[in-house]
Order: sequence, then C-alpha cells, then structure tokens
Amino acid sequence: MPQEKSRLIIKSGNVFDSVKGILKENQTIVIRENKIQWCGEDDAFEKETNDKIIDVKGKTIIPGMIDCHVHLEYLHEFFSNIERAILRNKEAMFGYYALKNAQEHLKSGFTTLRDCGSQTLAPASLRKVFDNGLFLGPRLIVAQRGIFQWGDQEEFGPQDWINYLRKDEVISGPDGIIHAVRDQKRNGADFIKTTTTGGVLHGQDSKVELSLWNIDELKAMVLEAERLGMHVAAHAHGSLGIHNAVQANIHTIEHGTLITEETASIMVKKGLYLVPTQSAMTAEFSSEMKKTFPPEVIEKGEYLAKEVIEHHKMAFDKGVNIALGTDAPVASAHGNSAQELILMVKNMRMTIAEALQAATINAARAIRMEDKIGSIEEGKFADLVVVNGNPLEDLTLLQKSNNLHHIIKDGRIVAEQGKITYFN
Ligand SMILES: [Zn+2]
Repeated sequence: MPQEKSRLIIKSGNVFDSVKGILKENQTIVIRENKIQWCGEDDAFEKETNDKIIDVKGKTIIPGMIDCHVHLEYLHEFFSNIERAILRNKEAMFGYYALKNAQEHLKSGFTTLRDCGSQTLAPASLRKVFDNGLFLGPRLIVAQRGIFQWGDQEEFGPQDWINYLRKDEVISGPDGIIHAVRDQKRNGADFIKTTTTGGVLHGQDSKVELSLWNIDELKAMVLEAERLGMHVAAHAHGSLGIHNAVQANIHTIEHGTLITEETASIMVKKGLYLVPTQSAMTAEFSSEMKKTFPPEVIEKGEYLAKEVIEHHKMAFDKGVNIALGTDAPVASAHGNSAQELILMVKNMRMTIAEALQAATINAARAIRMEDKIGSIEEGKFADLVVVNGNPLEDLTLLQKSNNLHHIIKDGRIVAEQGKITYFN
C-alpha cells in the first residue's frame, strides 16, 4: 500500500475565527493534503506517528487573506504614464509582470486574488500555471479583459491608442452583452468585470457622474453571467452608476465612491458587496503623476479622494457588506494590500476584527468562495498565515513580511518571513 503523506500540524497557536470575529487561544490545526482536517483545543489533539509538527506558541494564525481587486499585469510605475507603458511593452511581458506581482501578494499573506481586468489574456493562463504547481502563486479568480461600453470618454490621442482601446468595444443592447459575457467565459474568465461610470485616470473626459449602459443591458449581463456560474463586479464612482449597478443586482461594487444612503440600504437588503479600494481612492497624486495627467484629472481625483471617506463610512455604518480590495498597483505597489486593513480601521471606523473579516470570510463570500476559503474550518483549503504577535492588537504587524512566519496555501508552506519557499 502506498504510504499516506504525513500531516502538517500547526500546534498551539492563537487562531482568528473569522466567522465569529474572535481570537481563540491554544489551538491546533491539522492539515492533510491541501485541506484542514481538524482544528480544536490543544488538549484534544491526537498525534500520529508521521506528523510534521510546527509549534507556533504565542503566534497568531489568520486565514490566508483575499484581495478582491488587483490588476496583476501592471507595475506601479506604469501609472505615472499608462499610455506610454502599454505602448512600450510587448504583450508577452504582461504575463511575466503578473507572475512576479502575484508572488509579491503571496509573500505578504494574500493567498487569493481577484484580478479585476487585464490588457492580455495572461491571467487565466497564470491561474492554470499556479493550479498545476509549475510556479508557486496565490489562488486566482480572473476577469480577463472585462466588458466595457464604448463611449464613456471622448477619443483623444494617436490612432494606435484609440484602436487599442477599441479592442474592448462590445455591441450595444442585451444581445451584444450576452455575446460579450460568453466571449469572456471562453477566454477563461471566472467572473465578469464591467464599469458603470467613467474612471478617475481613464481619460480627461471620462465622467464619473455619467451612468454607462442602460439598465436592460446590465440586467442581461448579470443573468447571463449567473447562468454560466459567474458573478459580476462593477467599477462605479458616481451615485447614478452605483445605483443602476445595484438595481441590476451586480454582486460587487468596486470603489463605490459617491454611494448614497438610499443605494446603501438597497445593497444591505440585497446582500451585495462593496469593495472600497481605499488604497487607491485616498492616495495622493505623486508629483510625477501631476506632471503627466491633465489638470482636470487631478482635480477629479482630488475631489473624489475628499468625498470617499464619508461615503464609505456611511455605507459601513448602514450595514453594507465590505470586502477588501486595493486596486493594486494603481496607487501602491503589489504586496502592500495589508495597508487597506489599516485604512478601513482609520477611515471607516471598523474594529481590527471587522477589517480582518473583510479581508477573509467576507471577501470569500463576495467572490462566492466561502465554502472553500476565508476561514479556518474543517474541510476548507488550508490557506493560513502564521503571524508573529497579535495583529488584533497591532495591525501593522501584517505590513512587515518578516513578521509573517509561515504562509501556507493548499496545505503547503509557500513563504516564510517574506521569502517564497520553493522546496519543502
Ligand atoms: Zn481596478
């Protein structure tokens, strides 16, 4: 008989119960293959001969964290001049950037990422590369190219750039949308990303007040996505675009900058999720960006950065479900997603436990993976972060990768103190 693989035991740590939002002391976690087989009091743990035991007394174990909004193909530097970055990089380069960036997140304790839109079709291939174990990386949930309405901004710039943007054009009307959803599914998408308003950096005439798509188009998108087992995420800054997305039952609202009380109440009733991306929304324009973006874009960004805090706080106070997302690397480099927890505590007045829930179980629910990840429970994938000290007392512990003693994904130690572990 083939010998059964030894179990990995994480012994005598303090476990963050993300479902209840509490810390449980002196717990042992038993991992067999890629799943959590058992979790309970130290005293009740029954040792087997071949167990590989890691004693983590005094350390805290949290579920592997989830960032629901990243763009893996881009580097942070791109955002000082995005047009130049895209026109000066061969398409194949983006796949390599995505690999490097995904590993930056993994080293920082984020074991699942939702990629909210890419230039190329690399993310779905990267997901396969990680799933097959060719390289170590986080779980990826990918949108691929997303579905965008043509006409959210006036066309400026060289014809090559305009032609490039037109790759995303879809045929208007519900039938056009249904076709576009199927196209993305065929491209390997796990979910659909769309925009119901203009963006901050999208272009000088991209308006956040304008609502993109009509409601029938949005409803068709949601129904077709659901039929194919996918959810929909909508980038939305202005109140009308947020409202229409919510009316159409779009599952996650990205940014949600100018959300109103009325829309927040509907979100609570429908159980929809807000992904605040405060890392991007509250960031200041760098001096480099101020040189390259037109003054209207700077003005728009500064206005939204001022408004966003009160709107998000109101939504949280009303009871809107919040899931962590950063929009990395728009305003901060990949691998810094823990700063979003700090911003949620500071700006939305969450408790640390609530912020950790937004990064774990709530994020899992938002991306419809709560039966697999987001909490330390029997039967779930063994995605864990062992932290030196207690992040419930000091969240900044999560920002320093040398405090992340072990990062475990799929039952395997994938990083130790900020370094990817290739062989173990
Ligand atoms: Zn984004």
